[in-house]
Amino acid sequence: METGSGLLFSAAEIREKGGLYAAKPLDPASYAGILDKPSAVKSASVELVFSVGGDLSTVRPRQEVWRKLCPGATQDCGKGRSIILNARASAELDLECARCGGIFSAEFTEPFDEVYEDTVESIDVRGPALEAVALMAPMKPLCAAGCKGLCPVCGCDLNRMTCGCKAEPGAPEETEKTSSFMALKRFKEKKDKK
Ligand SMILES: [Zn+2]
Ligand SMILES: [Zn+2]
Repeated sequence: METGSGLLFSAAEIREKGGLYAAKPLDPASYAGILDKPSAVKSASVELVFSVGGDLSTVRPRQEVWRKLCPGATQDCGKGRSIILNARASAELDLECARCGGIFSAEFTEPFDEVYEDTVESIDVRGPALEAVALMAPMKPLCAAGCKGLCPVCGCDLNRMTCGCKAEPGAPEETEKTSSFMALKRFKEKKDKK
C-alpha cells in the first residue's frame, strides 16, 4: 500500500508480490534548500526496483549494510525476506557555472541502493531519494566544457564578448568571423530589449 508522498511502501505488500517496480515524481517542496543557491532543482523523479531476497552483490553503495546483515554471504541470508532496492534518481538542475557565473540547466541521474531487513514493515524512500538528488550536483559545474569564463581584468563574460584587455593565455583570439557574429548578436540583444 502506498501512502503519503507516494514514496512510502508496505514491505508486506512487496514481499507478497515478490517485488515491485515504481516510477515516481519527487515533490518539489521536499527538495527546497538541498542545493546551495542560486542552484535549484527544477524537476526530479525516481525509478525504484524492489526485489525480495536475491543477489545482494547488486547493492552498490551500501554493501557494508548487507555484510553486517549476512557476514560472508553473497546471497540474502534473511530466509529470502530482505528487500533489496535498486533505484535511480533523475533530476533537472539549475546550476551556476563555476567559471562565468551563468545559470544553466542540466540533467543528471544518480543510482542508489538500500537493503531492508525482514523486520522492516514500511519502506520510506524519501530520504535516500533526496540524498541522491543532493549528490548529483557537480562540485564545479560548467555551463560548457569550453566555457571561457570572465575576463579577470574587466569582468566581462568572455563567452559573449571579447574585451580589449590583455588576452589570457589559452583564450582564443577573436577572428573576423566571430567578431561580426558577436556584433550581430549584440545588435540583436539590444533590439530585443526595446
Ligand atoms: Zn560558464
Ligand atoms: Zn576584459
